[in-house]
Amino acid sequence: MTKVGSLHPLRGGAVFPAIFEYRRVASVDEALSALADGGGDARVLAGGQSLIPAMRYRLAQPAVLVDINPIGGLSYLKEDSGALKIGALTRHADIEFSKLVRDKYPMMADVAYVVADPIVRNRGTLCGAIAHNDPAADWTAAALAARASVVATSAKGSRTIAIDDFLVDSFSNALQPGELVTEVVWPTPDARTRGAYVKVERKVGDFATVAVAGRLTLDAQGNVAGAGIGLCAVGATALRAKNAEKTLAGGPPTDERIAAAAEAAAKESDPAEDTRGSVDFKRDLVRVLVARALTTARDRIKGSKS
Ligand SMILES: Cc1cc2nc3c(=O)[nH]c(=O)nc-3n(C[C@H](O)[C@H](O)[C@H](O)COP(=O)(O)OP(=O)(O)OC[C@H]3O[C@@H](n4cnc5c(N)ncnc54)[C@H](O)[C@@H]3O)c2cc1C
Repeated sequence: MTKVGSLHPLRGGAVFPAIFEYRRVASVDEALSALADGGGDARVLAGGQSLIPAMRYRLAQPAVLVDINPIGGLSYLKEDSGALKIGALTRHADIEFSKLVRDKYPMMADVAYVVADPIVRNRGTLCGAIAHNDPAADWTAAALAARASVVATSAKGSRTIAIDDFLVDSFSNALQPGELVTEVVWPTPDARTRGAYVKVERKVGDFATVAVAGRLTLDAQGNVAGAGIGLCAVGATALRAKNAEKTLAGGPPTDERIAAAAEAAAKESDPAEDTRGSVDFKRDLVRVLVARALTTARDRIKGSKS
């Protein structure tokens, strides 16, 4: 056990992060036991790209930091039982450069390419981003559209939580003290299912002003059998545009029906004014980006069948 908390000379000896106990663990069992010891005051350290800045500004003050990076076998992308399993230490860059993802999960490939910048992508993890639940996180919106789920493991065993239930509120999730996200489960799209992720950002590497994930599943007649729409940065967490999804059901994905779904999504969004734009501007971006994401999804389905 190591106590950490560096002195800062310009601040009269005040520490930057609050004092915390650093536990470097080498197995999932060790991690679970360290998390159980720390109770509600323990936090997992994965890529550290969100947690370390939050600790630096004392927005997060965990008493115990459980560093899972030495654990072997937690970095993987593997298909199993109709889904892609993404391990707790799989970095954004692993996804960005995966041929499997590029070939079979185009919406994920879209996302991996626009999360932050290459430096952050080399360290940050998909599981960490979903656990962190920033309202402007790219992966959470895409996970809603894809109907992904989260596997939480504790000393008592594992449970699978649907992404809709996992995202509780800004920066909070459905994990109980002592639970570790061991993997995220992402349904494998069949030949009639495709998605797309589109993001507007002020500059490359920025968090989204607004971003949208759109997924369509078509039946044999070409009608919409399923739709998923996830909105990023226009609510307390990523939002699922449920009314917009219903608008699409049952008919063909024509431009007119996509436009109606985009209008419905704009109404469902709940943006706040900030330095990235006004409420009206962001609502209009939702409308434009939903139409763009769904049109791309539709075109990708056509492309995958030809
Ligand atoms: C400059 C910069 C720009 C960024 N831009 C974007 C952006 O455009 N889009 C975007 O989506 N994100 C962005 N991010 C955030 C980035 O994607 C992070 O990688 C991500 O939010 C957190 O992943 P991490 O592995 O770094 O998690 P950490 O920082 O290690 O942890 C984040 C939180 O999740 C918890 N956690 C992590 N892993 C687990 C686990 N396995 N089980 C339980 N809890 C866990 C931690 O305890 C902590 O509370 C940016 C970050 C930076 C520094």
